[in-house]
Amino acid sequence: MDHAAAGFGVIGVLDLQGGVQEHLDHLRRLGVAARPVKRAAELAGLAGLIIPGGESTCLSRLLAIFGLDRAIRQAYDGGLKLWGTCAGAILLARENVGEMPCLGLIDIVVSRNAFGSQLDSFQCEALAPAVAREPIPLTFIRAPKIVRAGEGVRVLLPMADYIAAAEDDRILVTVFHPELTPSLAFHRYFARKCGLSVAGGDDAGVDPDWTPHSWMDFSHHV
Ligand code: GLN
Repeated sequence: MDHAAAGFGVIGVLDLQGGVQEHLDHLRRLGVAARPVKRAAELAGLAGLIIPGGESTCLSRLLAIFGLDRAIRQAYDGGLKLWGTCAGAILLARENVGEMPCLGLIDIVVSRNAFGSQLDSFQCEALAPAVAREPIPLTFIRAPKIVRAGEGVRVLLPMADYIAAAEDDRILVTVFHPELTPSLAFHRYFARKCGLSVAGGDDAGVDPDWTPHSWMDFSHHV
């Protein structure tokens, strides 16, 4: 059997809406085999699945339309590791303040759009010692806050009044977007959580050749 074609050792990125390509690019920079996932059948054999940022209402409707919500739960029961970034974290949360949960797979409570409007998006740097020895650049885009984490959940990045990154044994959640920064640290961390061997140390994994993806590069519009 062609194991790579069957998905073994491959991380998928849910490709319904949102920041798909940037995650694929980061995984490939690490030398991790990665592919977009649009259909339930494409989950077969994957080591992990990233649910990207985007718009959680839109994503949850598309998940239901394509039967991917049920398929992701089944694949998770079969051992698939999951990482939700921003909207993806909202979809994975067991509780969502004022709204119904979607996949409900990790014992956290999230509060959507908790920083305000799109204009309240921001960047900063923070140290997540379990993930990297050096501070990691973080990009928050109309992000949610993780406001509570249950007993089996480890907090990877505590902030003043919320949690920015957390995990349990099978799921990683980040309310920010590592794929929109030059740092590969969280992708390396997730790949290792998926049981894949990835080169590189415990540094922030900043790729000197990284440039913002074309949608962030306005130079050609001038
Ligand atoms: N505000 C979006 C939502 O609630 C999430 C934004 C993001 O993924 N960057 O779905």
